[in-house]
Amino acid sequence: MAFEFPDLPYDYAALEPSIDARTMEIHYDRHHRTYFKNFTGAVDGTPHADKSLEDVMKSVDAGTSPAIRNNGGGYYNHILYWNSMCDGGSAPSADLSKAIDDAFGSMDKVKEELKAAGTGRFGSGFAWLIVQDGKLAVTSTPNQDNPLMSVADAQGTPILALDVWEHAYYLKYQNKRPDYIDAFFETVDWAKTSERFASA
Ligand code: MN
Repeated sequence: MAFEFPDLPYDYAALEPSIDARTMEIHYDRHHRTYFKNFTGAVDGTPHADKSLEDVMKSVDAGTSPAIRNNGGGYYNHILYWNSMCDGGSAPSADLSKAIDDAFGSMDKVKEELKAAGTGRFGSGFAWLIVQDGKLAVTSTPNQDNPLMSVADAQGTPILALDVWEHAYYLKYQNKRPDYIDAFFETVDWAKTSERFASA
C-alpha cells in the first residue's frame, strides 16, 4: 500500500486566531489520523490497496462498505482541507480570479456561496469549490463524502475544502458555525487552490 499519513503543512498554531492550536492538534492528530488508520485497515488485502486514493474515492458508490467510504473520505477530505488554508491566506492566480468572476461574479460572491453551502449543510459535512466540466461550482456533501464519489449530488474535482463538522470549530466557536466560516476565509490558500485549478 502506498497510502501515507501526510504531515500537516504548518504548525498547529499557524492559523491562529482563525483556527486555534488545540482544535488543529485534535483535528489532525486524532480525527484525521483515525480516518487514515481505519481506512488502511479496511483496504488492506483488497484490490483498493494498490489504487491511488483519488481512484478509491472515484470508485465509491452506494454499495461501497461504510468503512471505506467514511474513512477513505475522512482521509482524503482532510488532506485537501489542510491544504486549503495557510498562515494569513494567499491570493488567487489571474486565471482563478477570472474563473471565479465568470462563475460567481466576484470573490465576495463565491465566499457567500461557500458560506451558504457550509451553514446549510445540516449536521456534519463539507462545503466544496469544485471544477465541473471545466467550470467552477460550489457544492456540499454530508459526513465524509466528497465530490469525487458517484454518490455525491454534484460531482467534480475538488480544489477547496471547508470542513463544517463541529470538531472543526466547536472548542473556539461552539455553535457559531457562520463565525468559523468567516474566520476560515481569512486563511484560505487561494494560491495553492489556483494550482489545483490549473491541473483540474
Ligand atoms: Mn474534520
